[in-house]
Parts: sequence; C-alpha cells; structure tokens
Amino acid sequence: MVLVVAGAAAGSLAAAAAYGIAARGSQLLSRSVYRGPGLRKSIALTFDDGPSESTPILLDYLEKHAVMATFFECGMNARRLPSVAREVVAAGHQLGNHSWSHPYLFLRAPGAINREFADTQHLLIAETGAEPVVLRPPYGLRSIGLRAVQNKLDLLEIQWTIIGNDWKLPAAGITDRVLRGAAPGGIVCLHDGRGVRVKPNVAPMLVAIREIVPALRDKGYTFETVSELLRPDAPLEAFGERKRPRPFQK
Ligand SMILES: [Zn+2]
Repeated sequence: MVLVVAGAAAGSLAAAAAYGIAARGSQLLSRSVYRGPGLRKSIALTFDDGPSESTPILLDYLEKHAVMATFFECGMNARRLPSVAREVVAAGHQLGNHSWSHPYLFLRAPGAINREFADTQHLLIAETGAEPVVLRPPYGLRSIGLRAVQNKLDLLEIQWTIIGNDWKLPAAGITDRVLRGAAPGGIVCLHDGRGVRVKPNVAPMLVAIREIVPALRDKGYTFETVSELLRPDAPLEAFGERKRPRPFQK
C-alpha cells in the first residue's frame, strides 16, 4: 500500500477526498482507495445499493445516534425512490455513485459503462442537488473501462477495508466481522439495498448496525463520511461528536 495524493490540486479528483491508502493495481486502472490514513480514531460506514424502502429506518437510527455515513446509490433505485435519496442528503450524509443498474462491468462495453455512471450522476444531482465525488463499482470489481469514466466525471473510486457480508450472514455474524476488522481509517461496506431489487430484505444489517455503532463508540471511534475520513488534516473536533459535517459535496 502507498499513501497517495489523489488530485489535491483544484479541479481534479475531489479535493475533499484528497488523501487515502491506494490499492495496488495495474496502471491501467484508475486510482482506488480502500482506507484512510488512520491518523484519527475514526471509521467510515458506507451503505451500498440503496436507496431502498428500508433506507428510512436506517436514516432514523443514524440520526438518533448522530452518525454520519456514506451511501453509494444506484441510479435505478434513486429513480424509483427519489424522496429517499433526498432524505439521505438532507440528513447530511455523503452520496456516492454505484452505477445505474448494478451490472458486472467487465461484461460491458466502454460506452455502456460510461452511461451507467453518467446517467446515475445526472439523476442524483437532479433529484438531490448533491454532486457525488466518489464512486464504488458494483461488486467492488475494478475494470479498465472505469478509468475513463472516473476521469470524465471526476470521481474517486472507494473500495473498503471491511465488508460485512450482510447479504448472507445473520446479524451477529455481520457485527462480528465488522468489529473484528475495525481499525482507525477503516471503511466498512454494508448494504441498505440488494442490487436493484424492489423492497429488498436488509433486516440483518438493520439489526447489526444497532450493535456495531455502540460497540465502536465504546472503543473510542467516531464516525466520518468517506471524504472526511480521507482527510489527514481534519480538525480536532473530528475526535468528538458532531451532528453535521462540513459540506463535502461539490
Ligand atoms: Zn453493490
């Protein structure tokens, strides 16, 4: 791994998401980050495949516990549930681009990959007013075709340090995985949806999150959005509790 400066200059890749730990990979792949520098005892919870009919339940919980998170949403889901996508942004969470229809990108032509992310970007901006600065490819699968899209849309790819396997594990198993893998600067991948399925069952995650948040707090962790987590220079108050982060969308 290597500490990278991902486009700290104005106008290039997400100045707010400027620092992170880069994944090893081919030079043909665009820059990808899977954890922050870990200079603070903070962690980023990320939720993929939303918005779903269950997202408001999660939002309620996060609001009650003053937890800020990052949501990698699919365009098709946000078109189905635009009011939920707006709720996510209104609550102060960071929005990320997770493609339109959640395909296996390596099966798609470059033009189709571009449309998956460009259409999602445009829809999220139109529906929520927030312009994502980060993306996560479906299934976390990096592909050569993604590089041009990232550069064109100015999106930093975010992978994860810990994946909860919450689509197949019971709540206790999800909780155990996340707590065992927790470390400063970690990025946790959970799901408030299931691809582009309508009314997905995310009940195990909704139970697990009620264990994960208090357990990490007890260990002294604070919760940051991905873009905050990647900043090595976050202010000292990042160590304490904050109801609302600084603006991180463009
Ligand atoms: Zn996904």
